[in-house]
Amino acid sequence: MTTTTFPTGTILGYPRIGRRRELKQALESYWRGASERAAFEEAAAGVRRATRERLAALGLGRDDSSIPESSAHYDQVLDTALAVGAVPARFADVLDADGRVDLDGEFTLARGDAERAPLEMTKWFDTNYHYLVPEIGPETAFHVADSRIAARVAEARAEGFTTRPVLVGPVTLLLLSKAEDGAPAEFSPLDRLADLVPVYVEVLRELREAGAEWVQLDESGLVSETLGVDADTVLEATRAAYAQLHSATDRPELFVATAYADLGDEAFRTLADSGVAAIGVDLVRGSAPSAEAVAAAGDVTIAAGVIDGHNIWRGDLAAAFATLEELRAQGATVAASTSTSLQHVPHDVADEPQLDARLASWLAFADQKVGQIVTLARGLTEGRDAIAAELDAATAAAEDRAGAPGVRDEKVRARTAALGEKDFSREDAEVREAAQQTALGLPVLPTTTIGSFPQTREIRVERQRFAKGEIDRETYDGFLREEIARVVALQEELGLDVIVHGEPERNDMVQYFAENFDGFDVTVNGWVQSYGSRCTRPSILWGDVSRPEAFTVPWSSYAQSLTSKPVKGMLTGPVTILAWSFVRDDQPLGETANQVALALRDEIEDLETAGIGIIQVDEPALRELLPLKQADQADYLDWSVASFRLATSGAAERTQIHTHLCYSEFGQIIDAIDGLDADVTSIEAARSRMEVVEDLEKHHYARGIGPGVYDIHSPRVPSTEEIEQLLETALEGIDSRLLWVNPDCGLKTRGYEETEASLRNLVEAAKTAREQL
Ligand code: GLN
Ligand code: ZN
Repeated sequence: MTTTTFPTGTILGYPRIGRRRELKQALESYWRGASERAAFEEAAAGVRRATRERLAALGLGRDDSSIPESSAHYDQVLDTALAVGAVPARFADVLDADGRVDLDGEFTLARGDAERAPLEMTKWFDTNYHYLVPEIGPETAFHVADSRIAARVAEARAEGFTTRPVLVGPVTLLLLSKAEDGAPAEFSPLDRLADLVPVYVEVLRELREAGAEWVQLDESGLVSETLGVDADTVLEATRAAYAQLHSATDRPELFVATAYADLGDEAFRTLADSGVAAIGVDLVRGSAPSAEAVAAAGDVTIAAGVIDGHNIWRGDLAAAFATLEELRAQGATVAASTSTSLQHVPHDVADEPQLDARLASWLAFADQKVGQIVTLARGLTEGRDAIAAELDAATAAAEDRAGAPGVRDEKVRARTAALGEKDFSREDAEVREAAQQTALGLPVLPTTTIGSFPQTREIRVERQRFAKGEIDRETYDGFLREEIARVVALQEELGLDVIVHGEPERNDMVQYFAENFDGFDVTVNGWVQSYGSRCTRPSILWGDVSRPEAFTVPWSSYAQSLTSKPVKGMLTGPVTILAWSFVRDDQPLGETANQVALALRDEIEDLETAGIGIIQVDEPALRELLPLKQADQADYLDWSVASFRLATSGAAERTQIHTHLCYSEFGQIIDAIDGLDADVTSIEAARSRMEVVEDLEKHHYARGIGPGVYDIHSPRVPSTEEIEQLLETALEGIDSRLLWVNPDCGLKTRGYEETEASLRNLVEAAKTAREQL
């Protein structure tokens, strides 16, 4: 095989939804039946073409494999699963007579159909991207089921590009999979590695035939310690898989990319020894391989991930270049790379003309990061002097940022500096419980919802009109008040015990807070794919955070004025605000979290003063930020739990603090959840049929708890009997004094018809359960 050299600069992946979310529109229009398959294919090809052209215009090479072919209709894990035929038996019918899957088959796996739930979705490493979880069993018949990745290489080729296809590597694919239903208890998807690798060999041959000179195999599974397989087993699997892939003939050169945390010397050496030609390491989250590992690695190229793919800061380009030079001085062949795919950042700072120019000068979105890579690569080829001006400009921007007003706010600093232990704790839980019982007078098994009510088309239209200036503040507020009045009346009619205002004023549970706090800015086009066609627009947390004035109070107290039942105030917690924003990188997260916590603490104080007796502080992202390395987890849980406590511990004894978490894998972090010291916690449980009750019982969990009895992820209306059943199961492990009755999550994505019917059944079931106590 002739060896082609690895490009001197590259990125691990690029946003794929399109600069103006063109792929989202194409997908949703096709799913609605509003466009033909050919039109969809054409739109998707258009996004791929635009991406390649853009990357070339930014300076990546057209024919040196530096442009990754990292597009996907829905999800890159699904694309790889389809490439190797990892289709679970319950979807066997989507395979045609030749064992292949077409576009509609792909979407059936991704979205389910009338009879079947789709593949499960879960978070991709510690990001807010969700991938589809392949289901693999002892019988899964791996085979080449789809050739679209090769077709994309050929498509690029026809347009004059030699691109580098990206697949999830075999070890990571299996580590991210779950055992298919019905597999024996001791079965692990990784057991199937030896059957899977030969199919990768075939896929590689296809890619080579299509014209690929390099292939990128993403193996971030190697860096994570949260996937339930021990490190030695993972390394052994890696050794076996790559020895076999390396010995295959007629394949592209192998580039194994790892990201999201430190790869470590041992895994680096394992890969280098297996003969792969290039290895990608995340040098933002992790450290460079040691000098000994570099020396032992021979002529492998190190794609040094010095540009942060996870965040939007321009960063210290001079330090990044110094890292590359240092590796080179140790004898390594070095390429400049991003630490992760750029799929986690928006396209282009230039698409945000409304941003303050000074703030904009501190930022680098995907296109700016590509520019930085091109600069670093030029430095590697032509020497430091050739890029001195660019390095200096980045340094100057960083210095400007450090001294800019608002980045440091002395009032905020003085407040955090003065914090003492008492600011993080409340009166004992038993004392609180008695005070709250007197203040609130709730029945046993109280019923409530998680906060949002359906965000109807009408609400979205009015919000748009207000944003465009078509209606004034007063008209818009009047509309929102009517909406709140309607939702409060509905809850009274349904007989719910704790009322919410329904959150119609919120576009998003984080952005709404970013808009009302100092220290944040929001973008207009800064969309980032969350899953499938869904995107979020993370806010930018760039300065010291504080809250200029109360903003949720008017809505909550208006709702309270309409009912004699308690209204629950609704806030997003500090960890979730950080997790779903782009956060400043110039101080520890814990410090920023405490600033956000103090801003929330001020809001809680004002809610109390306004007569709100129950306040919920949502933390659905608490689990998401849990570090991939066990050694880092204790520290994370310390600061994250502390920030929640700081936000809530100013509340009076009689004020009931609730929290809400969006998942049911509760066992893993139950101590941390207990540590939040919330009076009541609602969690997801309907989908897993109350599995969580066992964990709660095991841990003698003694706080108020609302395991969801209504799965809001689907339009299905749960029957009264079904909810009674779930409550019965819950009562087997939870004291009736502690149990709350609520849905799994907020109702904002649901329609009114199913919401009303479901809540009616929920209230009915709670009544029956009370009578049987
Ligand atoms: N209070 C929010 C809502 O009901 C919580 C959403 C969430 O947990 N993601 O919409
Ligand atoms: Zn939720």
